[in-house]
Amino acid sequence: MIDLRSDTLTQPTKKMREAIFEATVGDDVYGEDPTINRLEELAAEMLGKEAALFVTSGTQGNQLAVLSYCSPGDEIIVESESHIFFYEGGAISALAGVQPRVVRGIKGEMNPIDVRNAIRSQDIHFPDTSLICLENTHNRSGGSIVSLNNMEAIYQLAQTSSIPVHIDGARLFNAVVASNKKVKDYTQFCDSVQICLSKGLGSPVGSILAGKKEVIQKARKWRKRLGGGMRQAGFLAASGIVSLTEMVERLSEDHEKARRLADAIEDISGLTLVNQPETNIVIVNIEQTYKTNDEFLDLLKKEGILAVSFGEGQIRLTTHYDVSSNDIEQAIQVLKRII
Ligand SMILES: *Cc1c(COP(=O)(O)O)cnc(C)c1O
Repeated sequence: MIDLRSDTLTQPTKKMREAIFEATVGDDVYGEDPTINRLEELAAEMLGKEAALFVTSGTQGNQLAVLSYCSPGDEIIVESESHIFFYEGGAISALAGVQPRVVRGIKGEMNPIDVRNAIRSQDIHFPDTSLICLENTHNRSGGSIVSLNNMEAIYQLAQTSSIPVHIDGARLFNAVVASNKKVKDYTQFCDSVQICLSKGLGSPVGSILAGKKEVIQKARKWRKRLGGGMRQAGFLAASGIVSLTEMVERLSEDHEKARRLADAIEDISGLTLVNQPETNIVIVNIEQTYKTNDEFLDLLKKEGILAVSFGEGQIRLTTHYDVSSNDIEQAIQVLKRII
């Protein structure tokens, strides 16, 4: 099977398996896992933050940020299609007791003026705005890159109002590599950032939350409260170190494959691109094939290609290192054949 459902499907590389096998571990709840400590130091350094925390998932990293910055009854500003709002099971309300103030963006970019207007003034009727969340790359916009200009403008107005900014950077390194910038160019415009080790970076489990020391201390306590205090999890962190040191630059290969797929799809009548891929996600409109999503996905599956439905008349294809260039060519042939 050629699995284009998600970059979370990547299997750990040989180097990761070796690092896992050889990891020195300890009890991380006691702060005594040397491999986790090394990963957290490395991540903090790379992301330009004081401290970092190894967490179970991207969702946990985002939620720990919300829990650490906010109190019940607060309001947080989120983009209308952001993962935190759209895909985290209502956790901001269920766990942190905050309500979302939703701002509609264009390809994931909120207009700074809209963000400024969404910040609450001091009034006994109003909740306090206690966090602004950005997402980069923006998942539901097909992995689009939120520009540094946009981030800078929002970060500046947030600072003027003393409101922290959190980046959901599950795929931030995709943005970094595709835009030929440094990760710190992006993270300078936030107070905290979450990155996933388990997507295009290939690790089996885990994310990083990085930020100021006090915030990470709070997050560590919240992680424990939520049952996320792991013991000899250095076996997982060992792979995370390989992700950060060896897997970042090669994300460009995933982007090239997405580009190749998109270019070919543009030439297939009946299929149209919903987005020009900026990174590793291609969203395709299949309405002109007059097939339902399920019918279309079934046909693909019978030919050995897995993809996912992405709402009405649209499917999503995601590239990653477990799909080769040959696999991409094969997928293109199948798409042509089943139309
Ligand atoms: C995948 C993803 C997450 C959540 O990561 P999990 O590890 O699946 O919990 C958060 N934000 C974005 C933008 C994502 O794509």
